[in-house]
Amino acid sequence: MKRFLNIVADIFYPRCCPVCQKILADQRRMICPECEKELRPIGHPRCYKCGKPIETGEYCRDCQKHRHVYEQGRGIFVYDGIMRRSVTRYKYYGCREYGDFYARAMYRYAQKELREWKPNLIVPVPVHRSKERQRGFNQAAYLAEKLGHYTGISTDVNIVQKVLKTKSQKKLNALQRRKNLEKAFCVTGDVRGKNILVIDDVYTTGSTIDAMAGCLKRKGAGNVYFLTVCIGRR
Ligand SMILES: [Zn+2]
Ligand SMILES: [Zn+2]
Repeated sequence: MKRFLNIVADIFYPRCCPVCQKILADQRRMICPECEKELRPIGHPRCYKCGKPIETGEYCRDCQKHRHVYEQGRGIFVYDGIMRRSVTRYKYYGCREYGDFYARAMYRYAQKELREWKPNLIVPVPVHRSKERQRGFNQAAYLAEKLGHYTGISTDVNIVQKVLKTKSQKKLNALQRRKNLEKAFCVTGDVRGKNILVIDDVYTTGSTIDAMAGCLKRKGAGNVYFLTVCIGRR
């Protein structure tokens, strides 16, 4: 029965490649072989704090200037034209299967970090309930659950709630973003002494992750790390 349903789903909603958007010839794949060869995760040198690609040194310009609340984190791919299109389709156009590829990439390319950080709990960046209703799902929660499945680390997609609707962050500068995010999150469960891995689709300035880290630490959490699918260059 399940096999049959999978076949039906493949006919009506064939899986597409998250990079070139073409229907996958082999529906068991998550990315087409050509794109798999081309798409590279961010290598070295990268910022010791946020994982952004850098030319030289240890920290990116942003991390030299700002003290982050989280301990360390990494985005797997650069948020450029290709990945921007991919994430947009994932978030707004129902290409949920891209999330399977993203979560696998996070697991595959962040092995070293996962071993070092030893998180006890995986938590997605929450979206406000009204936004989730609008979109039909929380894109970060989907990734967190998949990553939890791959790593065997317990995952709680409800422990942090978005209690205030925040204005779109796109047009704000760093300080405005931070202000905008203050008090937006609420921790609803016990995080005392836990090392937490926060999951999101894209890291830009880090203000969201910092706001969550601050909220979690006020409730007694230990170290807070992040892992995102993409990270902006600047
Ligand atoms: Zn492709
Ligand atoms: Zn950095």
